[in-house]
Amino acid sequence: MTGFPDEDIDTDEPREHSGQALPRIMLETALGHQGVKEVSQRPAYSLVVETPAADYAAPVQKALRKLGEWDHGCTVSKRKRPSEDDRTSEFIMVALARGGRVYGISHQPRDMLPPALYSGADRVVKLPPPSPDVIARTILAVTGALPVDVPPDLGAGLAFEEIAGAIRRGSSPAECVSRLLSARSSPAVAEDDDVPHVKDVHGMGEAKTWAEELVQDVSDWRAGRIDFKEIARPTAVLSGPPGVGKTQLMRSLAKSAELPLVVTSVGEWFTAGAGYLDSVVKQIDRVFAEAKAIAPSILFLDEMDAVPSRARLDSRNSDWWTTVVTHLLTTVEKTLKDEKILLVAASNAASNLDPALLRQGRFGNLIEVGPPDEAGLAGILRQHLGGDLPGEDMSGVARLAAGSTGADVVAWVRSARRTARVAARPMVMADLVDVIAPREQRQEEELWRIAIHESGHAVAAHVLGIGQVELVSLVRRGEIGGFVKLDGRDFGPSREDVERNVVQMLAGRAAEEHFLGAPGIGAGGVVYSDLAKATRYLGLLHFSAGLGDSLVYRSSLEDINHMVASDPDNAAIVERHLRSLYGEALNLIQSHSAAVERLARELTDTRQVGGDRFVQLFSGHAHA
Ligand code: ADP
Repeated sequence: MTGFPDEDIDTDEPREHSGQALPRIMLETALGHQGVKEVSQRPAYSLVVETPAADYAAPVQKALRKLGEWDHGCTVSKRKRPSEDDRTSEFIMVALARGGRVYGISHQPRDMLPPALYSGADRVVKLPPPSPDVIARTILAVTGALPVDVPPDLGAGLAFEEIAGAIRRGSSPAECVSRLLSARSSPAVAEDDDVPHVKDVHGMGEAKTWAEELVQDVSDWRAGRIDFKEIARPTAVLSGPPGVGKTQLMRSLAKSAELPLVVTSVGEWFTAGAGYLDSVVKQIDRVFAEAKAIAPSILFLDEMDAVPSRARLDSRNSDWWTTVVTHLLTTVEKTLKDEKILLVAASNAASNLDPALLRQGRFGNLIEVGPPDEAGLAGILRQHLGGDLPGEDMSGVARLAAGSTGADVVAWVRSARRTARVAARPMVMADLVDVIAPREQRQEEELWRIAIHESGHAVAAHVLGIGQVELVSLVRRGEIGGFVKLDGRDFGPSREDVERNVVQMLAGRAAEEHFLGAPGIGAGGVVYSDLAKATRYLGLLHFSAGLGDSLVYRSSLEDINHMVASDPDNAAIVERHLRSLYGEALNLIQSHSAAVERLARELTDTRQVGGDRFVQLFSGHAHA
């Protein structure tokens, strides 16, 4: 993994563009005057910012970095699989321990940020979606004037890019407002109405199987083959993060089973009335009565987490909730016994649910719904694209999108449609790729250097048997300009193992030297850069693990960079060793230069190369 610092390019433009102004104003509004001062100046400070959606993360990060100096930051807009190279938590902890300033940004900070950062934050700021007032101030910042007429729901339901894209320099405030209004009335809502049949749903694993069985059972009941009571799994709790398609699956189920659907949000039970016990109980009765009136039907209780587990409540609250939960449980049991109703609940975190809800005779089945896999994503993309991009293979973009949800797909497709509409032409693949992996801002030359660098790492990992190359990527992720993903890393205990790994760490720099005449800054810089890591591991070998010339233990892993750098003798020992391993890395690159070059060329074309393709390119079957 290479750290290419994510420098903001400061321009001399007198006025910000909307992509800068909008997140800045959102932050200032949420923090207030005092808050801005605190966030920009307080030493030994950790801040967590919750963005309204994933697409706000990157622009908010830029705005935040302009507010103050930070020692470390972590911006997560996609659920990523933990990788052994990901040492973010460690660096955050070290920065905090040293009294540094750190930030974390995510739309789901509790789940996605390192626990040390979230739980230890001095301040957690939740940014609401931009209000009409925030949008009006953004228009002022960008165009120099405030709009006269600001509709009360201006910007509602729009993605970041749609809002920012509608507010342009050189436009009048009224033009910006009218663009915002027409973005909203684009046909996105209509396309959502058309849900697929259950059999055509993608990326929902076990939940789909359950729904298919239900469709079959309902059809058998209709044909008189079974009794309604014999339907195998008429209830379930679908548990998973927002946006993975739980609600959509219910609508598909209703469509395929030809049953009417009643949807209720449990969270709203407590806000719709005054939240008094009596009004909540009435809400429950009303909803169940509605489903009963149109039975056979499906009743979908969304946001079931709004009913907390009684085990977590103190005794005062517990009385209140016990009454609510007991009433709910009795109603559920009675409904399942007496009515022809399929009863489904959705929850973001099943662990928050009262276990009593999950017993047999109540919701019974707990079905986990995670983000779709690559094949699922390809199917979801195809589904939401409808007639756009006919015949195009979606597997490549699905790979770019790994870890995203169906809700992300909806936003991408909407944005790609908009691009095509504005350009008054049919959609092309690049419209989609540009939103999933935003358009390359980097110069060709810089990209080539990164491609060479990452190819050096990948080829060395393969040759040295350090791990199987799963993915080589030039897609920028936060501060990382490119990366190699290995399936496991053989980091054995011997001196030779450490050296092999260090050679691989240095191979990126060596490849740059071999192909470009001189290495660039990419191997150094941040503390998780190649040189920092290589120095740390050789320091560990010499001064901590007794695998150099001395058995004396002199430093822990965390302090080793400092220890090596602050003492010229120590530095000289590590320097000698680094030089010799760097020589090996250069030799390795020289012997495999054709493979490195083939890989780098393909990378600059496709931006990502998967494991199988890597092996083809390595062995010279470039066109296999
Ligand atoms: P959840 O209920 O899990 O929060 P939704 O069902 O509301 O998610 O989905 C949000 C949006 O994402 C909807 O527009 C839906 O069409 C789309 N979506 C999510 N998952 C899928 C999927 N597996 N297939 C197709 N569309 C999906």
